[in-house]
Amino acid sequence: MKEGVRIDLHTHSTASDGTDTPAELVRNAAAAGLDVVAITDHDTTAGWAEAVDALPKGMTLVRGMEMSCIGLGEDGWPVPVHLLAYLFDPTDRCFADERERLRAERVERLRAMAERMRDDGLPIDPDAVLASAGPSAGRPHLARALVAAGVVPTVDAAFTELLAPHGPYYAEKADTPLRRAVEMIATAGGVSVLAHTRARKRGRLLAIDDIRELAERGLGGLEIDHPDHSAADRALLTELSAELGLITTGSSDYHGSNKTIRLGEFTTDPAQFEELAGKATGVPVIAS
Ligand code: AMP
Ligand code: FE
Ligand code: FE
Ligand code: ZN
Repeated sequence: MKEGVRIDLHTHSTASDGTDTPAELVRNAAAAGLDVVAITDHDTTAGWAEAVDALPKGMTLVRGMEMSCIGLGEDGWPVPVHLLAYLFDPTDRCFADERERLRAERVERLRAMAERMRDDGLPIDPDAVLASAGPSAGRPHLARALVAAGVVPTVDAAFTELLAPHGPYYAEKADTPLRRAVEMIATAGGVSVLAHTRARKRGRLLAIDDIRELAERGLGGLEIDHPDHSAADRALLTELSAELGLITTGSSDYHGSNKTIRLGEFTTDPAQFEELAGKATGVPVIAS
């Protein structure tokens, strides 16, 4: 792959908690000067087909997903972890069943949070919140409802004041054990990459020793250049990836207007992308 190619391997569409439709996402990626974009909605491949159909000339699409997992925190307690899965076979039955279970968990947990708000007298209609979500319901859908109802001024304020894990309305969901997720992705021919694993503002961090163990079990890479990572944590992850022989990626984690980050604000080195694509056997990269 030639030098100067711009690659963003982590973005969201309306198939989960982004605000661009999959078609808008790939068009906006082209307009942002990207050559390669991955669509990585939470726990669903529902946006893949539309993104393929709308792929602009000259753009390359990587079909992926961001899976909701549970790992071991630095303090020894369970911690939520996001695992990017690329180019896996979407028809692998075991993995498809697990995605379906995760989405059902999402619906139940968002309903529980919305009902608690309503019961507390907040102007929130749980049915309307769930109807506003696409195939994969998430807290950003509730955040937007809170903004629309005038409860909070912004999506960000909704998270800090009401939706955070230590906030008054948080409900848990049962995510996939991280090791099991890495194995499932590998079995489906995909490549797994730990997403924003040092994003401190999201809460507690995954134990480094857990990452070492995952590498032995088939983890493919680490997302290093991410808007939520400090320079010190990027350096730590770079060292760790060299030690463990892991692929390194960079990406925006674009969510449309649900976040302020722009497409292509962080990118992946072309050689690293080639290695990732070369490892996958589930579905091919699509070049238009
Ligand atoms: P959930 O998947 O329902 O647990 O919600 C987590 C999602 O909320 C993440 O994937 C982010 O996209 C989003 N999120 C977390 N914090 C914020 C924030 N401060 N502003 C906007 N979106 C956020
Ligand atoms: Fe998200
Ligand atoms: Fe994430
Ligand atoms: Zn993401």
